[in-house]
Amino acid sequence: MIAVANQKGGVAKTTSVHTLAAGLVDRSRTVLAIDLDPQSSLSFAMGVEEEPAASMHDVMMGKAEIADILYESNGIDLAPSSIDLAGAEMHLLTRTGREYVLQRALRQIDGYDFVLIDCPPSLGILTINALTASGEVLVPVQAETLSRRGVDQLLETVTDIRRFTNPELVVTGVLVTMFDARTRHGRQQLEQLTTVDGLKVLQPPIPKSVRVAEAPGRGLSVLGHARHNPAAEAYREIVESLDA
Ligand code: ADP
Ligand code: MG
Repeated sequence: MIAVANQKGGVAKTTSVHTLAAGLVDRSRTVLAIDLDPQSSLSFAMGVEEEPAASMHDVMMGKAEIADILYESNGIDLAPSSIDLAGAEMHLLTRTGREYVLQRALRQIDGYDFVLIDCPPSLGILTINALTASGEVLVPVQAETLSRRGVDQLLETVTDIRRFTNPELVVTGVLVTMFDARTRHGRQQLEQLTTVDGLKVLQPPIPKSVRVAEAPGRGLSVLGHARHNPAAEAYREIVESLDA
């Protein structure tokens, strides 16, 4: 189970969850993708057009089980989100055991080779639920707007999670996204990140490509939309290393 988290928005969390899930399915793995962001970008990208009848909101409120809310999208099982998940966040804050709601819901689920969780752009209770339920956390960062402080903050949260709710949590590594090797700035940022102590930077970085941004409009990831695009090739290499 892998949480894809960074409290910064626009760093390709959602894109990475969708593309990695599609890549794992291409390798005949079974994948459950969980949309834990009230903005529901992953659900839209995977073709959920209307407000779903039941969603992760109901799961987090204890009113539905994950198995009952699933959509199928190109071989990926999706647990969709909806905007009212933001309300569940408020509700959870008043509850004892609020960090463990997702972990408990996932106990009812088995038989998937991979579970990928798309986190909202905050370090709030939803992200804490994802980190508590997961074995690993993968951290996408955008090379150009890289914030060392942001990454440090996330790592501090990981340390807290290990101390309080999930001692086993492992940082899979940082995934550099929207990388432009042509700019000096991009290369410098990557170098700087690679030298941060104890932080694993996954190889290769994901190149910036308009093909990646176009894909969700077709209900696809870049792997289905432009198989031989360099970003698709890079995501496929990352999938191989996750599935080794
Ligand atoms: P987050 O979930 O972290 O907020 P998204 O996955 O929604 O980020 O990505 C933010 C924007 O960047 C989206 O419009 C997405 O299509 C675009 N994007 C993501 N990866 C790439 C890439 N490799 N090249 C170009 N655009 C990208
Ligand atoms: Mg997102």
